[in-house]
Amino acid sequence: MEQHRAVVVGAGIGGLTAAVALHRRGRQVTVLERAADLTPVGAGIALAPNAQRALDVIGIGDRVRALSAWQGDGGMRTPAGRWLARTDARAAAARFGGPLVLLHRATLVELLTSALPEGVVRTGAAATVTDPGDDHRPARVTVTDAGTGARSELEAELVLGADGIHSATRKALFPDHPGPRYSGATSWRVVVPAPGRPFAPHETWGAGRLWGSQPLKDGRVYAYAMAVAPAGAHAPDDEKAELLRLFGDWHHPVPEILAGVAPDRILRHDVHHLPDALPAFHRGRVALLGDAAHAMMPSLGQGGNQAVEDAVVLAHHACTAPDFVPGRALAAYTADRLPRTTAIVRKAARAGALTMLSARPAVALRNTAVSAVSLFGPGLALRGFDGICDWNPPVEPVPSAGDASRPA
Ligand SMILES: Cc1cc2nc3c(=O)[nH]c(=O)nc-3n(C[C@H](O)[C@H](O)[C@H](O)COP(=O)(O)OP(=O)(O)OC[C@H]3O[C@@H](n4cnc5c(N)ncnc54)[C@H](O)[C@@H]3O)c2cc1C
Repeated sequence: MEQHRAVVVGAGIGGLTAAVALHRRGRQVTVLERAADLTPVGAGIALAPNAQRALDVIGIGDRVRALSAWQGDGGMRTPAGRWLARTDARAAAARFGGPLVLLHRATLVELLTSALPEGVVRTGAAATVTDPGDDHRPARVTVTDAGTGARSELEAELVLGADGIHSATRKALFPDHPGPRYSGATSWRVVVPAPGRPFAPHETWGAGRLWGSQPLKDGRVYAYAMAVAPAGAHAPDDEKAELLRLFGDWHHPVPEILAGVAPDRILRHDVHHLPDALPAFHRGRVALLGDAAHAMMPSLGQGGNQAVEDAVVLAHHACTAPDFVPGRALAAYTADRLPRTTAIVRKAARAGALTMLSARPAVALRNTAVSAVSLFGPGLALRGFDGICDWNPPVEPVPSAGDASRPA
């Protein structure tokens, strides 16, 4: 039986951030990832000042900002190209203490893994929590080698379930929870070379569908789309043909972006979320974080941001007291994170419903309201992010210069 101090199940953004946060606090940590490698999906991720401040705590905030493009200039449009609202990156930065930034997910994953010592992340290792443990008994995890099917058992002082929206750890801790629900919309994401003609970053709202095009720092463009669709549906031909049917006659740069996309580069995922809050984010010595704890619609761009916040807050509660008492430390984590993330999940669901309105009168009313609000300047639109993007971590940042892989 292997003995571990901290085990993280899942090497997504939440799990890797938690591993770095624990490592920097001097904890020995092992990350178990069932996938054969860490190549993340080929898409962008927007990080707001709240998540950037959490990344400052683990010493990589400045590097994230240096490798990302500023986001926030541009605005919201109709499919014909009329501007409904203009957004202003500087106004957002002034209000929330920094800019919104956009980077490729692979860049973020590389930054996080490079802050961990060799051997901390074990890929091809599917983990199942078999006993959450308690204050007097370690937690137990079974690890299955994805290649050979061989099983091994390990014990841990602390286990973090960062295994995403379809989390088996969540099911093990809270078997009666109804789990994720389909939001009614599906999503497409793609990273492409920039189109020839310049364009202003935009998110465009149609009837039951939306499209966003945002530049990355390396000159490419991250484009995403959503549309109302039955769960599990796929294009009868290919996803590029489907996107052309839905968005091919929208304003520039949408048709040009679509013209340059290879069908096999398009990611399509149904959007699920967790509208029913969990009773807690922990049981025994196991805590949930990220989508495993509070998956939300992407309408506020906060799912990954909240996973990063969780990770830093969890490491704070797990490592601050001289003695680690799981019942106490993890209850403090739940108390910090559950109310905040529950409110954001609900807000994201409301915003998502607004973007996916399909009936023409409702769409016209929504567009009129958005235009009217924008007449009062970006401040009013930004107010919707008050209490989200102005969040501060519970610990002081550490300097990001130097070797981030050394425990602080
Ligand atoms: C269209 C779209 C756009 C989005 N845009 C943004 C955005 O701009 N900004 C933002 O903040 N968020 C965004 N999000 C949300 C964001 O992608 C998620 O909230 C975030 O990736 C969750 O990270 P996570 O680490 O919790 O889970 P995941 O990224 O899902 O990682 C879970 C990991 O656990 C592994 N795993 C699962 N089960 C096991 C097991 N049994 N054993 C071992 N490993 C296991 C998986 O292989 C995976 O690597 C978007 C989401 C969508 C759908």
